Amino acid sequence: PIEPWHIGGPVIKGFGRGSKVLGIPTANLTTEGYSNILSEHPSGVYFGWAGLAKQGVHKMVMSIGWNPYFNNTEKTIEPWLLHDFGEDFYGEELRLAIVGYIRPETNFSSLESLIAKIHEDRKFAENALDLPMYAHYKNDPYLTSSL
Ligand code: ADP
Ligand code: MG
Repeated sequence: PIEPWHIGGPVIKGFGRGSKVLGIPTANLTTEGYSNILSEHPSGVYFGWAGLAKQGVHKMVMSIGWNPYFNNTEKTIEPWLLHDFGEDFYGEELRLAIVGYIRPETNFSSLESLIAKIHEDRKFAENALDLPMYAHYKNDPYLTSSL
């Protein structure tokens, strides 16, 4: 059996280019307090489950890293929740149970190829999270505890 790892905290403002430039909103979390857990896991794309107090538990696909395409100087944690919310949820407590790793972070020669890869990652995550070995972590107590 796999052992999910957990990150949580209030959704913070990112660089404001997730939804605007890519059509892919990412609910950023602060990396403060997570340097140990982040150093144990390589940069790249992960999948798992995301819990929000008012909006329930949903599939997510997440980038952890430096976003080489945008030349970030700080590591970011950026989950894309695979659900249509219809409104923003900045400041809400977000809990993540990360269950799998898709690929390392890579650079892309064009925005189009970056977006295409992210949609591939999304489809992979959607399908993987339906498999029994990953699906039952939707009930991970961390996702909804004291939210
Ligand atoms: P920022 O750079 O501030 O993170 P984004 O363009 O990445 O802005 O948009 C992310 C914000 O959009 C989230 O903080 C959240 O409030 C909102 N949002 C709406 N739907 C989603 C979703 N499906 N997944 C992630 N964030 C979403
Ligand atoms: Mg974002």
